[in-house]
Amino acid sequence: MNWKLLVLSGGIICGSLFIGGCNSGKTGQKVVMTEYQCPMNCEEGKTYKAEGKCPVCKMDLKEI
Ligand SMILES: [Zn+2]
Repeated sequence: MNWKLLVLSGGIICGSLFIGGCNSGKTGQKVVMTEYQCPMNCEEGKTYKAEGKCPVCKMDLKEI
């Protein structure tokens, strides 16, 4: 009666593969782009890739 063992180990292998696939999928989506924008929205939604000051009102850019 070895088939039970085979089914059991097969299930474990499938389960670990599934969990591993899930984890790699999550880490792939972890890259979040941080953008900065003027708190007064002087430039109608224009965003900056780096921290700095708004060229219009000279206020510090806010992280979005
Ligand atoms: Zn501004």
